[in-house]
Amino acid sequence: MDKPEMQTTQTTTEPAGKPKRFRPMRLVLMLLILASLWVGVCCVMTPASMKRVKAPRQGRVYNNRVAIVYSKHYQMSMGGLEKLHSFDIRKYARIYLKLNTDGMLRPEDVFVPEAVTEEQILLVHSREFLDSLKDSPTVARYLEAPFAAAVPNALVDAAILNAFRYSTGGTIMAGRLALKHGVAINIGGGYHHAKPDKGEGFCIYADMPIAIRVLQKEKLIDRAMVIDLDVHQGNGTAVCLADDKSTFTFSMHQGNIYPIPKAKSDIDIELQSGTGDKKFLSILRKKLGKAIDRARPDIVFLQAGCDTLKGDPLASLSMTQEGIVARDAMVIDECVKRDLPVVMTLGGGYSKQAWEVQHASIERTLKKYGGAATQTPHPRRAPTGKEKLYTK
Ligand SMILES: [Zn+2]
Repeated sequence: MDKPEMQTTQTTTEPAGKPKRFRPMRLVLMLLILASLWVGVCCVMTPASMKRVKAPRQGRVYNNRVAIVYSKHYQMSMGGLEKLHSFDIRKYARIYLKLNTDGMLRPEDVFVPEAVTEEQILLVHSREFLDSLKDSPTVARYLEAPFAAAVPNALVDAAILNAFRYSTGGTIMAGRLALKHGVAINIGGGYHHAKPDKGEGFCIYADMPIAIRVLQKEKLIDRAMVIDLDVHQGNGTAVCLADDKSTFTFSMHQGNIYPIPKAKSDIDIELQSGTGDKKFLSILRKKLGKAIDRARPDIVFLQAGCDTLKGDPLASLSMTQEGIVARDAMVIDECVKRDLPVVMTLGGGYSKQAWEVQHASIERTLKKYGGAATQTPHPRRAPTGKEKLYTK
């Protein structure tokens, strides 16, 4: 009597302890539902000011002098995982949206770039490097973001590498605009640790060397200079442009932090922990003019990293917001005085206030050269509330 009952049980249930069968279609379906929900949320929550800086196009030059470059595609998003990284991934959007609500710019003022092309990337990077980006653990290492190692490569490419490609395209576009009008600001870029055959320190594509090579190839410039004032040495830029007499690299950085060992720029100035505004600005004032004289550039790329700010978790140069704004002003004013085209890129900055410092610096340039000192270009407007998706 017992036997038939046991047989019935065995045919209707799986034995305890046996792993459940993996059903890939169910997983794909779930991912599709999640993705469409996310797209839905993004469509509803995306402010118009973001939607209108998506397709590549020309913008408006302030006072025939200053151009702003930005794209919605600079935004990196991996469903919140990106927040695990020490870099404030929302920095670019925060700056753009604040300039927007402050009345300093409207979406139609902004020059929206194309992504850098593979052909342009290969002017600086090796084919092996490009191939290495097809491996998520390798990209995770370049980005110092272990969470990205387990993410499918297609998603890493779409969510992260794509943003770097647009931001690099932005530095190229800013280079062309600076040559035409004098001053261009890319609200992104400055990936100065990227080397020809590898990325490192959250840098993938060497945007400034790539922009220089593109401009040289287009015969728009002969010579270029990179002035790197990020708290970390521009080691990638130095390697990308080493042994090249048409380029000149100037890096002023904290000596006792990454990268160790340092690469060799044409001019390296190492500073001690706790240097502060006064000393930093006094050294820069002394060195800047002579360095530009030596470089004889047709264009300057400024890497204006604000991890020099007091309280930055990765460094201890202890500058204030006013000091950093004065630092950027010193370079930009010197270039304008010499009628030398200058591109500002944003580089690093890891404290919560980093974006505010760069916002203040950009605002200063717009006021001084963009005709916004006496009159704000547009009326201020209150945030719509949808900006939160890009700034929280
Ligand atoms: Zn840095």
